Amino acid sequence: MNNADKIYDLAVPGVQKLIPYTPGKPIEELERELGLTQIIKLASNENPLGPGKKALAAIQATLKDLALYPDGNGFNLKQALAKKYAVEMNQITLGNGSNEILELVARAFLTPEFEVVFSQHAFAVYPIVTQAVGATAVVAPALNYGHDLDAMLQRVTDKTRLVFIANPNNPTGTLLDHASLEAFIQALPDTCVCVLDEAYCEFVGDQSADNSIAWLEKYPNLLITRTFSKAYGLAGLRVGYGLSSPQLADILNRVRQPFNNNMLALAAAEAALTDAEHLQNTIEVNAQGMRFITEGFKKLGLEWIPSAGNFVLVDLKQPAMPIYEALLRKGVIVRPVGVYELPNHLRITIGTQTENQLFLQALTEVLSSNV
Ligand SMILES: *Cc1c(COP(=O)(O)O)cnc(C)c1O
Repeated sequence: MNNADKIYDLAVPGVQKLIPYTPGKPIEELERELGLTQIIKLASNENPLGPGKKALAAIQATLKDLALYPDGNGFNLKQALAKKYAVEMNQITLGNGSNEILELVARAFLTPEFEVVFSQHAFAVYPIVTQAVGATAVVAPALNYGHDLDAMLQRVTDKTRLVFIANPNNPTGTLLDHASLEAFIQALPDTCVCVLDEAYCEFVGDQSADNSIAWLEKYPNLLITRTFSKAYGLAGLRVGYGLSSPQLADILNRVRQPFNNNMLALAAAEAALTDAEHLQNTIEVNAQGMRFITEGFKKLGLEWIPSAGNFVLVDLKQPAMPIYEALLRKGVIVRPVGVYELPNHLRITIGTQTENQLFLQALTEVLSSNV
């Protein structure tokens, strides 16, 4: 160990052992590495249509004000969200991406004496925020790749301070039905905060029938997180939010940095909420692409996990890394999911029709060339 390495011993124990989140490979990086020019990225569940026109116009109109600090309370965006969901503004916490909300809830509620329950194959940020504050992760085995709510409930004790559930789940795309989910939330002790991560909720059909927001009135320990990164096409701006009881939102807002959302993000998100057409297009392109890609899997004799999101996990029945790398060499970036204990699967984000075709063509070539 050299001298500089000694600094690791000074980090808090949770951080010493922390394995950082691996993001999808950026297009520019692959360009630099392989000198390719035509690259498609279907790795991070971003919106293949890009941001909507209204969001772009709002960004343009806001540029002139960039010398000023943003509104630290995000008044306009909160007002728009409050109206959309029929909640009070004091029930909303704005985050620099919904990932920040996940971190805020961990920082506000966890110490090393507490436990956090989440599922096997659940979103990779849950173990990270848990470990960073030195709390103990308790992982319940998955059921058919999705959440096993009974197995999760069995692991809840008086030491459990947080439970994370992603619905739909990333990376598996599995969806819980609302009756079971509510029964689970109801069964939780009131000493345990339930985080319901709905990053992909816009892609789930029939929103009105399955309104988790109505639960907020009944469960003051419920935190619903949502984002502008996926269906709204604003991942690069970093804006997400939490919906909860006013008391829980108050706690999160105490630990939040005063200007955590930048001015362009606030303006673009507010405008994006008014762009029903872009959202509708996004949902339709996703549904068509999902059918197209899964049809392609079928023709290739591959199995996949039915997905309620804008991505799909395909089972290659062989180690996925060589296939991932062969796809990279053809300029197609997808997502390996070995860190999720799924070494034989790849996660594919649904792209535009052209991107989906290029992906399937590349996959067909790679699988037939015996990598
Ligand atoms: C993408 C994602 C998020 C959050 O993304 P942000 O860009 O930070 O809003 C949260 N949860 C899940 C399950 C996701 O896949």
